[in-house]
Amino acid sequence: MPQIQSHYPLTSLNTFGLQSVAEYFISIEQPQQLLDCIADPKLNQFKWSILGGGSNLILPELVHGLVLKMDLKGRQLTHEDEEYWYITAAAGENWHEFVQWTLEQGWGGLENLSLIPGTVGASPVQNIGAYGIEIKDVFHSLTAIHLKTGAQKEFAREECCFAYRDSVFKHEGYGDWCITAVTFQLRKRYEAKTNYGDVAQELERQSLQATAKNISTVISQIRLQKLPNPAEIGNAGSFFQNPIVSQELVGELVEQYPALVKYKVSEETYKLAAAWLIEQSGWKGRALGSVAMFQRQALVMVNLGDATQQQVKLLSEAVSKDVCAKFKVNLMVEPIFWG
Ligand SMILES: Cc1cc2nc3c(=O)[nH]c(=O)nc-3n(C[C@H](O)[C@H](O)[C@H](O)COP(=O)(O)OP(=O)(O)OC[C@H]3O[C@@H](n4cnc5c(N)ncnc54)[C@H](O)[C@@H]3O)c2cc1C
Repeated sequence: MPQIQSHYPLTSLNTFGLQSVAEYFISIEQPQQLLDCIADPKLNQFKWSILGGGSNLILPELVHGLVLKMDLKGRQLTHEDEEYWYITAAAGENWHEFVQWTLEQGWGGLENLSLIPGTVGASPVQNIGAYGIEIKDVFHSLTAIHLKTGAQKEFAREECCFAYRDSVFKHEGYGDWCITAVTFQLRKRYEAKTNYGDVAQELERQSLQATAKNISTVISQIRLQKLPNPAEIGNAGSFFQNPIVSQELVGELVEQYPALVKYKVSEETYKLAAAWLIEQSGWKGRALGSVAMFQRQALVMVNLGDATQQQVKLLSEAVSKDVCAKFKVNLMVEPIFWG
């Protein structure tokens, strides 16, 4: 049984840098430790919360109950066939280090997701995505343990119900399944994806070929320029999702705002750039209490020093209200608020 600690500080374990303490805290380094906890009736009286790298969380000052910190480690090529390499990594592996390791082995496919903070285990939870790819495009399966019953289950891609920043793990029974390992299938016939954002231009500017390693380097450079580094200024990445709206509403909005930033998703729907909506609503670089929408990227909320969960909530509500009043669009918050 791992050691249980009480009143454990979480401030350095969340990238927003919110002052927070876990009532009880356990670091899980082996799947068996998780099973031991599940079998312990004393621990079952608590509410349990799973913590990865804390990069998509807005924490309260006190997290009631037991926080399970995912520190399971290990990564390996499990098998291969003519088309794919199948690579499995434990939930506690750092995502970016895992991506770099796959590239060093010569397995391309994850490079567009370089420099996303957090852990491998959390990557399917919101189907992480960046620069034109999402986890669902390279996902094979995952293993999870049910925290109430101890049952172990393998989830195939279809069972995860992946969608934009979404999966089954954010819905019914949220927090019931603890993901212990994820298997990715990486295509042997490499196809570079450089048609998103400034990737192709940047490769050309630096006279670099579109190899997986070069794409990773260039995307990391672009991200470092655009996004605030959580080690310097607390944040949880994009604070709002890009809203998906009807073609009808886009038609109305374009008449009024010809510069509206939009991407066609299907015959009937468009994705709007939430950053543009926030900027046009006057919130880019604007603060409320100790939080602000970032000056260089309006989609990111930043901690100006001693922010609290309540202040994050107030700014989030103020921005959403103004965007809705101006554009009739409801913004959805991306990070998860723990109660
Ligand atoms: C600067 C910055 C840039 C970012 N850029 C991107 C981006 O480009 N694209 C993107 O999609 N996201 C991005 N994010 C958001 C974040 O990095 C991802 O959502 C990441 O996958 C969260 O991982 P984590 O380990 O930190 O999860 P945490 O924040 O610790 O947890 C997030 C949620 O997942 C659950 N969870 C964690 N581990 C497990 C597990 N093993 N089993 C079950 N549930 C679990 C938690 O309970 C919680 O509900 C960014 C964040 C920051 C700070």
